[in-house]
Amino acid sequence: MPLLKTLLSNLPSPYPLLLTTTLTTSTALLLSFLYLCRHPSTLRHLTLLFCRKILRHTIPISVNYYFTRKCNVSCKFCFHTETTSHTEPLPRAKEALSLLTTAGMRKLNFAGGEPFLYQKYPGELCQFAKQQLKLESVSIASNGTKVTEKWIKEWGRYIDILAISCDSFIPETNARIGRMDRGTGTLFDNVKKLREIRGWCEKYGIKFKLNTVVCSVNWQEGMVEQVKELDRFRWKVFQVLVVAGENESEKRLRDARSTAVTDEQFEAFCERHRGGKGFTPEPNSLMRESYLILDEYCRFLDPGYDGRGHSESILDVGVQKALSQIHWDEEAFVQRGGL
Ligand code: SF4
Repeated sequence: MPLLKTLLSNLPSPYPLLLTTTLTTSTALLLSFLYLCRHPSTLRHLTLLFCRKILRHTIPISVNYYFTRKCNVSCKFCFHTETTSHTEPLPRAKEALSLLTTAGMRKLNFAGGEPFLYQKYPGELCQFAKQQLKLESVSIASNGTKVTEKWIKEWGRYIDILAISCDSFIPETNARIGRMDRGTGTLFDNVKKLREIRGWCEKYGIKFKLNTVVCSVNWQEGMVEQVKELDRFRWKVFQVLVVAGENESEKRLRDARSTAVTDEQFEAFCERHRGGKGFTPEPNSLMRESYLILDEYCRFLDPGYDGRGHSESILDVGVQKALSQIHWDEEAFVQRGGL
């Protein structure tokens, strides 16, 4: 420092000021760069903000592709009901994923309906997403009933995370929720199946995640021990969501109103389970608009409080125009750790 002071005092004006400013700015830039290298999610957040505010470009960094609405189960609170049996032909689905990747998608989750009602279709999409598009994260959310070791052995190398639903470990509670075979009304042995899938995930190097919907039937249940035994890397706990146009009245395929819980009931469930590994609660306030959902026609769904709307298909109008037609709460997405 004394050397620097001497150097500065011997320089003719305005060079000392110029040098000081340059040094300070460079140091600040270097420190910021080092900080952002250590905190990639902050860097992503800043990039999202810059693109949206300055370039008027929205980056769909994480997308949930609900490629089918078909399901073999009939949960009372389902908010993505079987109103169509459509799936896009594989080449079109791949084209949609390519468009999303070009627009900045890094994480992709396949959901439904039940993705494992199909075998090759999700397998090929996962392979495409991982091998061709080189996405950072590819995951599938499933009710678990149709997952087989054969599938995981063949396609598991192309997925990072497998998320399985588990709303209860009590058969009667699952029956009341409607988690049973839609055709026969038979209950699944979900504990046995969860253990099996957990084992396959370990064997084939896939992260195992649990998803629980807290509703009026299970909010008083204690799940700590069983969840601990399943040694998941994350446990997402959702507050049951009533979505206009999907499950908000007796006119729909599902009427979820009787399964709704108050914020206090949801919080009481969370309070009893908080602290477990990967515990991630998502109340309605955080969920409703923070997910980017692409439906079976490759349209973004709008959360819509007065009836669920959707954009045009990204295959027809492109990603940016489709995104401009819906409301996506990017801040809530960042807040729930979506980056
Ligand atoms: S498992 Fe239940 S919540 Fe999931 S898609 Fe099927 S019916 Fe809906």
